[in-house]
Amino acid sequence: MDSRSEVTWNELHTGLRKIRVRRWFLWLLVLAYVPLMMVALRAQDTKQVVAVSFVVWLLLLIVAVAMMALARCPVCGYCFHMSGYLFRPVRRCFECGLHLTADKQALKEQAGSSTKASGPGEGGIK
Ligand SMILES: [Zn+2]
Repeated sequence: MDSRSEVTWNELHTGLRKIRVRRWFLWLLVLAYVPLMMVALRAQDTKQVVAVSFVVWLLLLIVAVAMMALARCPVCGYCFHMSGYLFRPVRRCFECGLHLTADKQALKEQAGSSTKASGPGEGGIK
């Protein structure tokens, strides 16, 4: 049974976009650590500001990782970034192998293979 054919392009796009947004949020949060600490170290009450900044950053990191870990694959419905109990932020679903940009690839294939007037929202993907 090919479960991918049951998913429309819109469902695929919406699901993968949600995963991509969560991934971006995590990576931006990781990148924001050094500038945040640089700003905190310039404060007058350095110890307290650094401690509060770190705790807030850590809580946001925990939330971001949890949101990313619980993001569901739009095709198979399993957690996209989870391999058993392991969190792995890779670009493919561990269960079905769906790539993070499969919606964009499907759109390119449709545009390239047919010049017929069929929109990306019609029909399923292969
Ligand atoms: Zn999957």
